[in-house]
Amino acid sequence: MKAVLFDAELKLANLPKPCFTGNESVIRLLKAGICNTDLEITRGYFGFKGVLGHEFVGVVEASKNTSLIGQRVVGEINSGCGHCEYCRKNLQRHCPDRTVLGILNRDGAFREYLTLPESNLHLVPDSVTDDEAVFVEPLAAACEILDQVEIEPDQRVAVLGDGKLGLLVTMVLNQSIRQLYLIGKHPEKMELARELGVETVEPGFIQKLSRSFDFVVEASGSPQGWNQALHLVKPRGTVVLKSTFHGQVAFNPAPIVVDEVTVIGSRCGRFEPALQLLRDKKVDPARLLQHSFPLGQALEAFELARQSGVLKVVLQSG
Ligand SMILES: [Zn+2]
Ligand SMILES: [Zn+2]
Repeated sequence: MKAVLFDAELKLANLPKPCFTGNESVIRLLKAGICNTDLEITRGYFGFKGVLGHEFVGVVEASKNTSLIGQRVVGEINSGCGHCEYCRKNLQRHCPDRTVLGILNRDGAFREYLTLPESNLHLVPDSVTDDEAVFVEPLAAACEILDQVEIEPDQRVAVLGDGKLGLLVTMVLNQSIRQLYLIGKHPEKMELARELGVETVEPGFIQKLSRSFDFVVEASGSPQGWNQALHLVKPRGTVVLKSTFHGQVAFNPAPIVVDEVTVIGSRCGRFEPALQLLRDKKVDPARLLQHSFPLGQALEAFELARQSGVLKVVLQSG
Protein backbone atom coordinates (compact mmCIF):
# COMPACT_ATOMS: atom_id res chain seq x y z
CA MET A 1 0.00 0.00 0.00
CA LYS A 2 1.07 3.60 -0.56
CA ALA A 3 2.39 5.50 2.46
CA VAL A 4 4.01 8.88 3.11
CA LEU A 5 7.14 8.40 5.19
CA PHE A 6 9.49 10.79 6.90
CA ASP A 7 12.94 9.38 7.52
CA ALA A 8 15.50 12.20 7.20
CA GLU A 9 13.45 13.23 4.17
CA LEU A 10 9.86 13.04 3.05
CA LYS A 11 9.17 10.17 0.65
CA LEU A 12 6.50 8.02 -0.86
CA ALA A 13 6.88 4.34 0.10
CA ASN A 14 5.22 1.05 -0.60
CA LEU A 15 4.54 -0.62 2.76
CA PRO A 16 2.75 -3.86 3.66
CA LYS A 17 -0.89 -3.40 4.67
CA PRO A 18 -1.22 -3.70 8.49
CA CYS A 19 -2.63 -7.06 9.62
CA PHE A 20 -5.55 -7.28 12.02
CA THR A 21 -4.06 -8.73 15.20
CA GLY A 22 -7.16 -8.41 17.35
CA ASN A 23 -5.74 -5.52 19.37
CA GLU A 24 -6.33 -2.53 17.17
CA SER A 25 -8.89 -1.76 14.50
CA VAL A 26 -7.71 -1.56 10.89
CA ILE A 27 -9.06 1.49 9.08
CA ARG A 28 -9.14 2.16 5.34
CA LEU A 29 -8.21 5.76 4.76
CA LEU A 30 -10.64 8.07 2.98
CA LYS A 31 -9.03 11.48 3.55
CA ALA A 32 -6.24 12.91 5.68
CA GLY A 33 -5.28 16.53 6.33
CA ILE A 34 -1.76 17.96 6.31
CA CYS A 35 -1.18 20.00 9.46
CA ASN A 36 1.57 22.39 10.52
CA THR A 37 2.83 19.69 12.88
CA ASP A 38 3.47 17.45 9.83
CA LEU A 39 5.42 20.28 8.23
CA GLU A 40 7.43 20.78 11.43
CA ILE A 41 8.20 17.05 11.57
CA THR A 42 9.60 17.27 8.03
CA ARG A 43 11.86 20.06 9.31
CA GLY A 44 13.16 17.58 11.91
CA TYR A 45 11.58 19.24 14.96
CA PHE A 46 9.75 16.38 16.63
CA GLY A 47 12.41 13.71 16.10
CA PHE A 48 9.72 11.46 14.58
CA LYS A 49 10.49 8.90 11.87
CA GLY A 50 7.73 6.90 10.24
CA VAL A 51 4.42 7.35 8.46
CA LEU A 52 3.15 10.92 8.95
CA GLY A 53 -0.43 12.13 9.41
CA HIS A 54 -2.86 12.45 12.31
CA GLU A 55 -5.97 14.14 10.89
CA PHE A 56 -8.09 11.58 9.05
CA VAL A 57 -11.45 10.08 8.26
CA GLY A 58 -11.68 6.43 7.23
CA VAL A 59 -13.79 3.28 7.19
CA VAL A 60 -13.22 0.46 9.69
CA GLU A 61 -12.20 -2.66 7.85
CA ALA A 62 -11.41 -4.97 10.78
CA SER A 63 -12.14 -4.64 14.50
CA LYS A 64 -12.83 -6.72 17.59
CA ASN A 65 -16.04 -4.72 17.81
CA THR A 66 -17.81 -6.09 14.75
CA SER A 67 -20.46 -3.34 14.90
CA LEU A 68 -17.74 -0.89 13.84
CA ILE A 69 -16.89 -2.72 10.63
CA GLY A 70 -17.91 -0.72 7.58
CA GLN A 71 -18.53 2.43 9.66
CA ARG A 72 -16.98 5.79 8.93
CA VAL A 73 -14.76 6.95 11.78
CA VAL A 74 -12.34 9.61 12.95
CA GLY A 75 -9.75 8.81 15.60
CA GLU A 76 -8.24 10.44 18.68
CA ILE A 77 -4.50 10.53 18.11
CA ASN A 78 -3.13 9.81 21.60
CA SER A 79 -3.02 6.26 22.89
CA GLY A 80 -2.07 5.87 26.56
CA CYS A 81 -0.85 3.01 28.75
CA GLY A 82 -4.35 2.73 30.25
CA HIS A 83 -3.38 2.66 33.93
CA CYS A 84 -1.33 5.75 34.90
CA GLU A 85 -2.86 8.71 36.75
CA TYR A 86 -3.55 10.54 33.47
CA CYS A 87 -5.08 7.59 31.64
CA ARG A 88 -7.33 6.92 34.65
CA LYS A 89 -8.67 10.47 34.23
CA ASN A 90 -9.19 9.92 30.50
CA LEU A 91 -6.23 12.23 29.75
CA GLN A 92 -4.29 9.78 27.55
CA ARG A 93 -2.84 12.81 25.79
CA HIS A 94 -0.67 13.38 28.89
CA CYS A 95 0.28 9.73 29.54
CA PRO A 96 4.08 9.60 29.84
CA ASP A 97 4.09 6.33 27.85
CA ARG A 98 1.66 7.46 25.17
CA THR A 99 2.03 6.97 21.46
CA VAL A 100 0.67 9.65 19.14
CA LEU A 101 -0.57 8.89 15.64
CA GLY A 102 2.05 10.05 13.14
CA ILE A 103 3.88 12.11 15.79
CA LEU A 104 5.30 9.84 18.51
CA ASN A 105 6.16 6.13 18.28
CA ARG A 106 3.16 5.29 16.09
CA ASP A 107 2.81 5.26 12.32
CA GLY A 108 0.28 7.82 11.14
CA ALA A 109 -2.61 8.19 8.74
CA PHE A 110 -0.93 9.04 5.44
CA ARG A 111 -1.28 5.45 4.16
CA GLU A 112 -4.03 3.43 2.59
CA TYR A 113 -4.69 1.48 5.83
CA LEU A 114 -3.90 2.54 9.39
CA THR A 115 -4.49 1.10 12.84
CA LEU A 116 -5.74 2.60 16.11
CA PRO A 117 -7.19 1.15 19.32
CA GLU A 118 -10.96 0.77 19.12
CA SER A 119 -11.35 3.12 22.10
CA ASN A 120 -9.82 5.97 20.05
CA LEU A 121 -12.48 5.78 17.34
CA HIS A 122 -15.57 7.95 17.00
CA LEU A 123 -18.37 7.29 14.52
CA VAL A 124 -18.96 10.07 12.01
CA PRO A 125 -22.67 10.98 11.68
CA ASP A 126 -24.08 10.45 8.17
CA SER A 127 -24.85 14.17 7.88
CA VAL A 128 -21.13 15.04 8.19
CA THR A 129 -19.18 14.87 4.92
CA ASP A 130 -15.66 13.46 4.56
CA ASP A 131 -14.40 16.99 3.85
CA GLU A 132 -15.84 18.12 7.19
CA ALA A 133 -14.83 15.02 9.15
CA VAL A 134 -11.18 15.40 8.18
CA PHE A 135 -11.21 18.58 10.31
CA VAL A 136 -12.45 16.90 13.51
CA GLU A 137 -8.99 16.59 15.08
CA PRO A 138 -7.94 20.24 14.68
CA LEU A 139 -11.50 21.38 15.45
CA ALA A 140 -11.29 19.38 18.70
CA ALA A 141 -8.05 21.22 19.48
CA ALA A 142 -9.94 24.50 19.00
CA CYS A 143 -12.79 23.28 21.23
CA GLU A 144 -10.26 22.37 23.94
CA ILE A 145 -10.03 26.07 24.85
CA LEU A 146 -13.63 26.02 26.10
CA ASP A 147 -12.86 22.91 28.15
CA GLN A 148 -10.03 24.81 29.83
CA VAL A 149 -11.41 28.31 30.41
CA GLU A 150 -14.85 29.72 31.04
CA ILE A 151 -15.52 32.76 28.87
CA GLU A 152 -18.56 34.91 29.55
CA PRO A 153 -20.44 35.81 26.35
CA ASP A 154 -19.79 39.55 26.78
CA GLN A 155 -16.07 39.29 27.49
CA ARG A 156 -13.69 40.52 24.80
CA VAL A 157 -11.66 37.83 23.07
CA ALA A 158 -8.88 38.17 20.49
CA VAL A 159 -7.56 35.35 18.33
CA LEU A 160 -4.04 36.07 17.20
CA GLY A 161 -3.24 34.47 13.84
CA ASP A 162 -5.42 33.78 10.79
CA GLY A 163 -3.90 30.42 9.87
CA LYS A 164 -5.84 27.16 9.87
CA LEU A 165 -5.90 26.82 13.65
CA GLY A 166 -6.66 30.51 14.25
CA LEU A 167 -9.63 30.30 11.88
CA LEU A 168 -10.96 27.11 13.48
CA VAL A 169 -10.64 28.72 16.93
CA THR A 170 -12.48 31.75 15.55
CA MET A 171 -15.30 29.55 14.20
CA VAL A 172 -15.66 27.74 17.54
CA LEU A 173 -15.54 30.86 19.76
CA ASN A 174 -17.90 32.69 17.43
CA GLN A 175 -20.67 30.34 18.64
CA SER A 176 -20.78 31.96 22.06
CA ILE A 177 -18.61 35.10 22.16
CA ARG A 178 -20.15 38.37 21.04
CA GLN A 179 -16.98 40.51 21.06
CA LEU A 180 -14.60 38.37 19.05
CA TYR A 181 -11.65 39.82 17.12
CA LEU A 182 -9.37 38.03 14.68
CA ILE A 183 -5.93 39.53 14.27
CA GLY A 184 -4.29 38.50 11.01
CA LYS A 185 -2.74 39.70 7.80
CA HIS A 186 -4.13 37.55 4.97
CA PRO A 187 -6.95 39.48 3.23
CA GLU A 188 -8.91 36.43 2.02
CA LYS A 189 -8.82 34.79 5.46
CA MET A 190 -9.86 37.99 7.19
CA GLU A 191 -12.71 38.25 4.69
CA LEU A 192 -13.82 34.76 5.70
CA ALA A 193 -13.87 35.86 9.37
CA ARG A 194 -15.85 38.99 8.50
CA GLU A 195 -18.41 36.82 6.70
CA LEU A 196 -18.86 35.01 10.03
CA GLY A 197 -19.52 38.36 11.68
CA VAL A 198 -16.15 38.52 13.43
CA GLU A 199 -14.26 41.83 13.79
CA THR A 200 -10.88 41.73 12.05
CA VAL A 201 -7.76 43.69 12.93
CA GLU A 202 -4.51 43.97 11.01
CA PRO A 203 -1.32 43.60 13.04
CA GLY A 204 -0.47 47.30 12.43
CA PHE A 205 -3.40 48.28 14.66
CA ILE A 206 -2.46 46.08 17.59
CA GLN A 207 -0.84 49.04 19.36
CA LYS A 208 -4.24 50.71 19.72
CA LEU A 209 -5.74 47.63 21.35
CA SER A 210 -3.29 47.48 24.22
CA ARG A 211 -4.71 45.77 27.35
CA SER A 212 -8.20 45.52 25.95
CA PHE A 213 -8.98 41.79 25.87
CA ASP A 214 -10.11 39.50 28.65
CA PHE A 215 -8.82 36.52 26.67
CA VAL A 216 -6.18 36.30 23.96
CA VAL A 217 -5.75 33.05 22.05
CA GLU A 218 -2.26 32.94 20.57
CA ALA A 219 -2.43 30.87 17.36
CA SER A 220 -0.04 32.86 15.19
CA GLY A 221 2.60 30.16 14.97
CA SER A 222 5.28 32.80 15.28
CA PRO A 223 7.57 33.86 18.13
CA GLN A 224 6.25 37.46 18.01
CA GLY A 225 2.80 36.16 18.94
CA TRP A 226 3.81 35.71 22.56
CA ASN A 227 4.69 39.39 23.05
CA GLN A 228 1.68 40.54 21.06
CA ALA A 229 -0.60 38.44 23.26
CA LEU A 230 0.88 39.97 26.42
CA HIS A 231 0.39 43.41 24.91
CA LEU A 232 -3.29 42.76 24.12
CA VAL A 233 -4.41 41.09 27.33
CA LYS A 234 -6.05 43.07 30.15
CA PRO A 235 -4.69 42.95 33.67
CA ARG A 236 -6.05 39.75 35.26
CA GLY A 237 -6.82 38.46 31.76
CA THR A 238 -5.90 35.10 30.26
CA VAL A 239 -3.56 34.18 27.40
CA VAL A 240 -4.21 30.78 25.82
CA LEU A 241 -1.17 29.51 23.93
CA LYS A 242 -2.01 27.33 20.94
CA SER A 243 1.04 27.78 18.70
CA THR A 244 3.60 25.02 18.74
CA PHE A 245 6.42 26.87 17.05
CA HIS A 246 9.84 25.58 17.99
CA GLY A 247 12.63 27.72 19.28
CA GLN A 248 13.30 30.30 21.92
CA VAL A 249 11.04 33.25 22.65
CA ALA A 250 12.45 36.39 24.22
CA PHE A 251 9.91 38.05 26.47
CA ASN A 252 9.80 40.04 29.65
CA PRO A 253 7.94 38.03 32.30
CA ALA A 254 7.38 41.05 34.57
CA PRO A 255 4.02 42.11 32.99
CA ILE A 256 2.62 38.64 33.69
CA VAL A 257 3.38 39.14 37.37
CA VAL A 258 2.44 42.82 37.60
CA ASP A 259 -0.80 42.41 35.61
CA GLU A 260 -1.53 39.00 37.15
CA VAL A 261 -2.05 37.43 33.74
CA THR A 262 -3.00 33.76 33.55
CA VAL A 263 -1.15 31.83 30.83
CA ILE A 264 -2.60 28.51 29.69
CA GLY A 265 -1.08 26.00 27.29
CA SER A 266 -3.64 24.26 25.11
CA ARG A 267 -3.16 21.32 22.75
CA CYS A 268 -5.45 18.41 21.74
CA GLY A 269 -9.10 18.25 22.70
CA ARG A 270 -11.99 15.83 23.05
CA PHE A 271 -13.64 14.84 19.77
CA GLU A 272 -17.24 14.92 21.06
CA PRO A 273 -17.71 18.74 21.04
CA ALA A 274 -16.18 18.97 17.56
CA LEU A 275 -18.44 16.25 16.17
CA GLN A 276 -21.42 17.93 17.83
CA LEU A 277 -20.63 21.27 16.15
CA LEU A 278 -20.40 19.52 12.77
CA ARG A 279 -23.57 17.48 13.33
CA ASP A 280 -25.45 20.67 14.24
CA LYS A 281 -23.99 22.49 11.20
CA LYS A 282 -22.72 25.23 13.54
CA VAL A 283 -19.32 25.47 11.85
CA ASP A 284 -18.19 24.88 8.30
CA PRO A 285 -14.49 24.01 8.44
CA ALA A 286 -14.59 22.64 4.88
CA ARG A 287 -14.36 26.30 3.83
CA LEU A 288 -10.71 26.05 4.84
CA LEU A 289 -10.07 23.29 2.31
CA GLN A 290 -7.54 24.54 -0.21
CA HIS A 291 -6.78 21.53 -2.36
CA SER A 292 -6.97 17.71 -2.39
CA PHE A 293 -4.31 15.43 -3.83
CA PRO A 294 -4.24 11.64 -4.25
CA LEU A 295 -1.92 9.94 -1.75
CA GLY A 296 0.47 9.21 -4.62
CA GLN A 297 1.02 12.96 -5.07
CA ALA A 298 1.86 13.59 -1.42
CA LEU A 299 5.15 15.31 -2.23
CA GLU A 300 3.35 17.90 -4.37
CA ALA A 301 0.73 18.24 -1.64
CA PHE A 302 3.40 19.00 0.98
CA GLU A 303 5.01 21.47 -1.42
CA LEU A 304 1.73 23.40 -1.60
CA ALA A 305 1.03 23.10 2.15
CA ARG A 306 4.41 24.68 2.94
CA GLN A 307 3.58 27.86 1.05
CA SER A 308 2.64 30.78 3.22
CA GLY A 309 -1.05 31.62 3.38
CA VAL A 310 -2.20 28.21 2.08
CA LEU A 311 -5.07 26.69 4.04
CA LYS A 312 -5.85 22.99 4.45
CA VAL A 313 -4.31 20.57 1.97
CA VAL A 314 -5.86 17.11 2.03
CA LEU A 315 -4.61 13.72 0.81
CA GLN A 316 -7.15 11.23 -0.41
CA SER A 317 -6.83 7.51 -0.80
CA GLY A 318 -7.69 5.65 -4.00
ZN1 LIG B 1 -2.47 18.59 13.59
ZN1 LIG C 1 -0.97 6.23 30.86
